[in-house]
Amino acid sequence: MTFNKETIIQILKDPGGVTEYKSKRWANRTLIYRMLQALYARQTGFEQEIEATTENNGIGFNGADSHFLSSVAKNSRPYGNLTSKQCEHVARRLIKYARQLEDIALTKLQQQLPLCGYCKQIGHAQQDCKEYQLKEMQRKLLQQEAKQMQLMDTKSYHD
Ligand SMILES: [Zn+2]
Repeated sequence: MTFNKETIIQILKDPGGVTEYKSKRWANRTLIYRMLQALYARQTGFEQEIEATTENNGIGFNGADSHFLSSVAKNSRPYGNLTSKQCEHVARRLIKYARQLEDIALTKLQQQLPLCGYCKQIGHAQQDCKEYQLKEMQRKLLQQEAKQMQLMDTKSYHD
């Protein structure tokens, strides 16, 4: 499963369900809580303060939802989750933010994905790079060979 607009909507339409992600099973309620917090974090500080959206910038909550979603986001934080009742209400309202939630998921994913310093590909770190490991192995073999040659040289010199 990857987070995109479609899978996000699926989760939002099934607030009582379970979703498998990275070989773990997540209660949709927990995922929806995180979506809500992620959107809330996108609002500017001032907008968070007054629990409303002053500018319609397509970031964070907008218009009619703003007060309700902001207040649930704030009040649920100490519990680290939503009640099932809260979750139902929040999920229904978050569907129209699926596009924004997809954006957030993509940005987070890009931040999480390491960039290989060796082959410059995204998705693995240098120490996990197959190309790098192969090159390292060859380098070590050559080093060993060179050492053995040296040893043989000195030996034959002393003989
Ligand atoms: Zn690499």
